[in-house]
Amino acid sequence: MEKRVRVRFAPSPTGGLHMGGVRTALFNYLFAKKHGGDFILRIEDTDQNRFVEGAEQYIIDALTWCGIQPNEGVGFGDGPYAPYRQSERKETGIYKKYADQLIAAGHAYYAFDTSEELDEMRKRLEAAKVVAPQYNSVTRQNMRNSLTLGEDEVKRLLESNAPYVVRLKVPRNEEIRFQDIIRGWVVVNSSQVDDKVLLKSDGMPTYHLAHIVDDIEMKISHAVRGEEWLPSAPAHILIYRYLGLENEMPQLAHLPLILNPDGHGKISKREARFPVFPLSWQDPREHTPYGGYKEAGYYPEAFVNILALLGWNPGNNKELMSVDEMATLFEFERVSKSGAKFDPEKAKWFNQQYLKAKTDAELAGSFRPLLKEKGYEPNESFLKEYCRLVKEKVQFVNDFWAQGRFIFETPEKLDEAVLTKKWKETSAATYTLVLEKFKALHTWDIPTVTACFHEAETANGGKIDMQVLRVLVTGASGGPQLFDTLALMGKDKVVARLESGLALVLTNFEK
Ligand code: GLU
Repeated sequence: MEKRVRVRFAPSPTGGLHMGGVRTALFNYLFAKKHGGDFILRIEDTDQNRFVEGAEQYIIDALTWCGIQPNEGVGFGDGPYAPYRQSERKETGIYKKYADQLIAAGHAYYAFDTSEELDEMRKRLEAAKVVAPQYNSVTRQNMRNSLTLGEDEVKRLLESNAPYVVRLKVPRNEEIRFQDIIRGWVVVNSSQVDDKVLLKSDGMPTYHLAHIVDDIEMKISHAVRGEEWLPSAPAHILIYRYLGLENEMPQLAHLPLILNPDGHGKISKREARFPVFPLSWQDPREHTPYGGYKEAGYYPEAFVNILALLGWNPGNNKELMSVDEMATLFEFERVSKSGAKFDPEKAKWFNQQYLKAKTDAELAGSFRPLLKEKGYEPNESFLKEYCRLVKEKVQFVNDFWAQGRFIFETPEKLDEAVLTKKWKETSAATYTLVLEKFKALHTWDIPTVTACFHEAETANGGKIDMQVLRVLVTGASGGPQLFDTLALMGKDKVVARLESGLALVLTNFEK
């Protein structure tokens, strides 16, 4: 029988969860959703030195904002395998039990080396030109551990509570093979693998032991994580094997890195060109907060859509997808092995697509509070029309104000570059004609204003430059649809702006 799909996102609370972490959570979530399985949030907090206050809550808030909702785990309700925090699980003695089993079977051993002794070993190996010095099947022979010390000495040390760690006993020259859903077969010789610490001197398990114990205990079917864990996977395979659990181990999938826009190196949290965190993140160890996608004006649906396509493609060139659609199409077989370049301009484009798909009423609802901050509270139909016009031009609701500010506030200056260039071919008389035609109108809506302008063109005996009209009324050379904008502004405002614009031009530009 196929194993029920149970996947986990297992972050360590060592800082804010960045977009790479969210993508790992998302791929787990989509896979669980596709198969009607479970998605679990497990907090891997065994490294007390790296614990950061607030990080766990941030992870929960970030997943919630993205709509990547675990159905078991810290912050989302206990399932059958609670607790879901490793520090709490440790209290049940579970990790020690598995470590003892490995020791009893001769696959793990006690190591009593002090940090000075470890340092000395490293220096010795470096002096002998060993490229990556490590505690392994060769070097362990010269160290103080239960493989080199006599049985009595080990007993004495343990009884006298001498500090020790438990290490995995990696064989000297064995081929370790495993299959990764994304990468295919991976083959590594055990001489490349170090004797990883499984239990630390404070009794805490390391990630290597703890995640295996938990994945087994929580009946995880697939372990999906970042590529940075690939080099440790051979050691993990050995642990499963030595515990007699190779048949129960989850299938592995190591996701590719998310690379900088230039394709060199992975995205850094200090990136200044675009946000790296889903929500703004204040690291308690630093002064300045990091900006978030949410605060930059991204919709969570857009953010999630952007992340989904970093490394995965649905195979049909489709870009805009709802979470349900993504889940239907999702497969690890379509996740690429190579790094995924992040394109911040494309990310904005995605947001714009989601923005354009909102109704004018929805946009008005999001924009109203921002407009209120500026001191304006127009009626609903005005605001909806405003949103309809400016949404074509921008990628974020945060930019709605700048796009149509001239409607509310008289511009301080007119775009001189356009006027200087174009006034040579036109004259105040032409725009006075437009002004008079506008003044004579009794109705004021888009078709009437449009028709009136064209009548002015006929009376003028030729085309009238619309960009000049735009500059005279709005101050700027570009912006939302001109006649729609004029209709929205209302006759009085348009006439007044045109009059003052013309007065200005007469003093400065008229030949
Ligand atoms: N705690 C590990 C991390 O933060 C989890 C790796 C895994 O998913 O196995 O990356």
